Amino acid sequence: MVHVGEKTYSFREFIDKRDAMNDLDNPFLLQVLQQFCHETWDEMLPRLEPFVKKLSSDWRAIAAESARPENQPKIRHYNAYNERIDRIIRSNQMQQMEKDIFGQGLFSKEQLKNEGIIKRFFLHGNGEAGITCPLACTDGLVALIDHFKEEVPDEVKRIFEHVTEGYEGHFGIGAQYMSEIQGGSNIPANVLMAKPEGDHYRLFGNKFFCSAVHADYAVVTARIEHTDDIAVFIVPTWLQGDKEKEKRNNHVINRLKWKIGTAELPSAEIDYQGAIAYRVGPQNRGVALAVSIVLTRSRLDIGFASGAFLMRAAQEAKLYASFRSVFDRRIDEFPMAAAQLEDLEYAAKRIVGSAFHIYQAFLQTQQEPNTLEAFVVRELILLQKIYASKEAVDKLRLAISIFGGHGAIEDFSVIPRLFRDSLVNELWEGPRNVLLSQIYRDLVKMRPQISIYDLIASILVDSSEKEVKRFAEQIEQLMQVNLTALPNFENRQAARKWEQIWEEIFTLFQEQTIKDIKDLPIALD
Ligand SMILES: Cc1cc2nc3c(=O)[nH]c(=O)nc-3n(C[C@H](O)[C@H](O)[C@H](O)COP(=O)(O)OP(=O)(O)OC[C@H]3O[C@@H](n4cnc5c(N)ncnc54)[C@H](O)[C@@H]3O)c2cc1C
Repeated sequence: MVHVGEKTYSFREFIDKRDAMNDLDNPFLLQVLQQFCHETWDEMLPRLEPFVKKLSSDWRAIAAESARPENQPKIRHYNAYNERIDRIIRSNQMQQMEKDIFGQGLFSKEQLKNEGIIKRFFLHGNGEAGITCPLACTDGLVALIDHFKEEVPDEVKRIFEHVTEGYEGHFGIGAQYMSEIQGGSNIPANVLMAKPEGDHYRLFGNKFFCSAVHADYAVVTARIEHTDDIAVFIVPTWLQGDKEKEKRNNHVINRLKWKIGTAELPSAEIDYQGAIAYRVGPQNRGVALAVSIVLTRSRLDIGFASGAFLMRAAQEAKLYASFRSVFDRRIDEFPMAAAQLEDLEYAAKRIVGSAFHIYQAFLQTQQEPNTLEAFVVRELILLQKIYASKEAVDKLRLAISIFGGHGAIEDFSVIPRLFRDSLVNELWEGPRNVLLSQIYRDLVKMRPQISIYDLIASILVDSSEKEVKRFAEQIEQLMQVNLTALPNFENRQAARKWEQIWEEIFTLFQEQTIKDIKDLPIALD
């Protein structure tokens, strides 16, 4: 007989096992990383161990706590003296975690090759947490300045040092503001105005999506006054000596956005009122630089995020399904759940394996931008952004269903938060239709130099000639239809097939990248 107040059920066994999990206890992932690192692996592993231990425990708890509604970022516009400050208020724990993570110097020359990107992959397992977007943005900022390092003003060189090597133990944080209210996908339509003034510019106008608004510096695209040129700028949030006084660099934050996901990350709307900005690169190359250097890195990062989200969800869903009994058996003893868990795990493996594969290929083609290989990588990055982020949403919803009603409870597991974050990953850095259209335009443009057959053969290296030919012919056929014209019956049909066929090709590509290691487990027994 059950007495009033007596506990009838305990999740303790599940919680204890889950909380003891370390993200390195994953034979599949270790194999991916070992292949990615090659000869540096022996040196890399001991550097990863303390970092991953910390993120699997302390930082994981802080990320979960920061996601609670009462801890989400807030803004205070004025101080007591009628001075506009636009202070972003975040919990002390959150700020300490940020300091610890950025303090690792993930962009420093002291890091081993690829150490920063591997650590960032692991951080994604904790969700956005107000950390991974600013890291991706800082990566883009570093790469952009690095590209023009010899010619940028001294102030930009100082900024570079601050974000890469730190200053008195403090590491600068980057953001990137390109989207404007009239169309985020369309950077050439930017109207934020940059007025030249001596060795710098002043910005006037609005940016409508500004994530990581607590950052020290932002990469901003703007139109040069009286021209059609869009350039890219580095904009300090505070000029030197002003951060302590909370005196912003001639801009105000209108509000923080209320978002479906990435809630721990402050995303704002900014009005620039003469902010000092430093141009980087030629004045008429802003769009190309923003896309090829900055957005490309953010898109690669979304591949890693999608993989890390699913890896965590697969591990936790499997653990839960092996713990929880319903009716006469454990959840994972029902064929439907067993099949879904298998699909979830396979998706996690495909996305993680292919994300590192694509990143490796990206690094290799950096020095030879005009080759077939570079073109293949460009398309793979677009495909990954589209399909890895889409599959993350689909499979996280599946993972939620494995938990039944508990799947919908925000503080029962991380999965609802990862699901909400994954919805945002589908949208920012280029929503699906923009990128599907981009692939179409790329292929139309490159077809005189690169055949569709060669492109598919380079993506699906293990496929038979017959299979490559079948895909190439279908794509050729779809390209007979104008997918960027106004909609009609024919191009609507073709648009559906365009999305499906690339999904089929990309999934096959993912399968091929992990074919030798796909049977390795994702957790220790
Ligand atoms: C939480 C969050 C944070 C963000 N943070 C930032 C940030 O920090 N910095 C920043 O710059 N941006 C940021 N963004 C903005 C984001 O990058 C844009 O929302 C995105 O690029 C799309 O722009 P848009 O919202 O204006 O959509 P639109 O451009 O209006 O697109 C609407 C729809 O039209 C489709 N579409 C648009 N153009 C085409 C085309 N040519 N062909 C086919 N279909 C098309 C799109 O696929 C989409 O479905 C953020 C967005 C979110 C959700």
